[in-house]
Amino acid sequence: MPSKSQWITDELSSLKQQGLYNTIRTIGSPQGAWLTVDGKKVLNFCSNNYLGLANHPKILAAAKSAIEKYGVGPAAVRSIAGTMSLHVELEQRLAKFKGAEACITFQSGFMANLATVPALVGKEDVIFSDELNHASIIDGCRLSGAKVVRYGHNNIQSLRETIANEKKIGFRRAMIISDGVFSMDGDVAPLKELVEVADEEGYLLMVDDAHGEGVLGKGGRGIVDHFNLHHQVDVEIGTLSKAFGAVGGCVAGDATLIEWLRQRGRPFLFSSAMTVPDVAACLAAIDLLEESTELVDRLWANAKYFKAEMKTLGFDTGVSTTPITPVMLGEAPLAQQFSRALFENGVFAMAIGFPTVAKGKARIRVMISAAHSKDDLDKGLEIFKKVGKELGLVK
Ligand code: PMP
Repeated sequence: MPSKSQWITDELSSLKQQGLYNTIRTIGSPQGAWLTVDGKKVLNFCSNNYLGLANHPKILAAAKSAIEKYGVGPAAVRSIAGTMSLHVELEQRLAKFKGAEACITFQSGFMANLATVPALVGKEDVIFSDELNHASIIDGCRLSGAKVVRYGHNNIQSLRETIANEKKIGFRRAMIISDGVFSMDGDVAPLKELVEVADEEGYLLMVDDAHGEGVLGKGGRGIVDHFNLHHQVDVEIGTLSKAFGAVGGCVAGDATLIEWLRQRGRPFLFSSAMTVPDVAACLAAIDLLEESTELVDRLWANAKYFKAEMKTLGFDTGVSTTPITPVMLGEAPLAQQFSRALFENGVFAMAIGFPTVAKGKARIRVMISAAHSKDDLDKGLEIFKKVGKELGLVK
């Protein structure tokens, strides 16, 4: 009789055969434009450290001094054992920064989605979800027990059609959910049109701004600010794990909605809070973003330069309008081969394949940061050109 876990071994080797096995490299340095990966110094093109804050001296100093005052861990669930003043301060500062009435923080962006969706819709309800929404939205939707109806990516016509179909069947309440910036393609949701549909129908609208936080809007205030839709999007999910340089998640919205999440958001009620250094780091990140738009401006200038040069070299960078720069390659084994060759030449940029993106849409996702200098970008471009030529992808 085969062992009861033989199927796992078989599945793992099948992943390896298909080029879908995810090998995780080990980083031996702080985050930044350059990293030590598996013992080798390489140019970093794959972290979400958009503004270079993960190792910024002011952020480190804030985290250290908060540790001196509050220690490291919150030691319990906030609703059971009280909340540190630091967490309350962060929520107030985030709300003000984003131009929202109130804000609640969670342990991560993933947790924010798992908390929020089930608190707002249930078994008798319907969720209209963009077909390319992030896994954490998909899981939050599943947890809610609501019927999930996917509409065509960024396609308002398709959204309207799915709504019309569901109305024929009938439901109690509904919510429309979309990523703000789509993490694998770098395109942006048509938020104005989504607001129009949500308002016409009287449905809640939720946007996940994980890749817009610190990137879009004035000085990184996010997608709602970018489209000037303050107080018109009911639920704004955010992550503090990318541009903010720490780890955490948040939800911004009106005061009643946030009060409800404090009563019914299960990861808030049953899991400990963000750690002290994370909270202090985020507070310092808001200080930096409120002081100046310099980092956000540099991020965009770097992204525009890199993307334009990649196009000139002949690479297909997809439909991105943000610093996320996919290099579309097609089949997963090719993307893995490309990533390995980049690494041998000194660039760390991972291949992304199924199930993170659809089969046949494998890519290298280049993440540009304000931490890159022009020299760094030029070095990266030179290596992309060399590897692209070696693999017969560009001339
Ligand atoms: N939402 C989106 C759209 C994301 O891209 C991510 C991170 N990949 C998350 C949520 C999860 O954020 P966190 O890493 O803070 O859990």
